[in-house]
Amino acid sequence: MMVLEDLEVKGEEGSKMEIEVKEKNENEIVFIIRNAEVPFVNAIRRIAMMDIPKIAIEDVNIVKNDSAMFDEVLAHRLGLTPLFSGLEAIEGLVMSEDCDCEDYCPRCSVSLTLNKTGPADKAETKIVYSKDLSSTDSQIKSVYDTIPLLKLKKDQDVELEAVAKLGFGKDHAKWIPTTVCAYKQYPKITFNEDLEVDYECAKACPRGILKADKRSKKIKVNNIENCSMCKSCVRASENGYVNIGYEKNDFIFRLETDGSMTPEEVLLKSCDVLSEKAEKFITFCKGGKV
Ligand code: SF4
Ligand SMILES: [Zn+2]
Repeated sequence: MMVLEDLEVKGEEGSKMEIEVKEKNENEIVFIIRNAEVPFVNAIRRIAMMDIPKIAIEDVNIVKNDSAMFDEVLAHRLGLTPLFSGLEAIEGLVMSEDCDCEDYCPRCSVSLTLNKTGPADKAETKIVYSKDLSSTDSQIKSVYDTIPLLKLKKDQDVELEAVAKLGFGKDHAKWIPTTVCAYKQYPKITFNEDLEVDYECAKACPRGILKADKRSKKIKVNNIENCSMCKSCVRASENGYVNIGYEKNDFIFRLETDGSMTPEEVLLKSCDVLSEKAEKFITFCKGGKV
């Protein structure tokens, strides 16, 4: 597997690509990529959403469902329940199309069961949550405990088997590991120093990026990465004092996952997939078989 230090490519005019992490937590990462090209950054974005394996519930065998929820809606809700799909959790599992079995087996799938009975009291309602799914694999289970699946009343039961399989985001949204995966070009704010300072532009900024400093007769720029490039400041300045543009080869990338895997795992896997595709292409160009 590729490690973050390996992420070194040549950008425009041979300059080295640089990556700086701005924010990071369990499910989200924001980083700046400098000296890169749009096709490269966009390839990472697309692969992260569409082309890395994730496990999700694919088939549901419903034995009993007395709840008011239709079987199809329940199956859809189960499909969209995020399951842990970290590299360790899915290690050894094969895609179902690469398996020799007819439908599903432990080599290509993980079974989860749901068996719940309604409350004893007629006046009560029992909510069945994602934590009530019990898995045959201790690593592959619901990421969140409190996703409501259905409601049961007295004398109502639900009994089902949910079969989770590996898949790709390009086939169904349930296999997309990211909830946010987007980049924007790095903003560039310049002032026309030949003109009189126009403090109105600072007043118009909805994000507080521009701050009027009347003592030094300047407009100061704070936290430029938060600029949405809305150009409200440009419209407010009658003399055209401020200009908003972007750095062509610098990007701010934000990636958030549904918890099925960490943002680092998504990025590293995306780089592996991109690298594999490039290798295949090189082999093809050299006349080899792909
Ligand atoms: S483009 Fe919008 S967010 Fe950026 S500095 Fe101007 S007003 Fe503020
Ligand atoms: Zn199988």
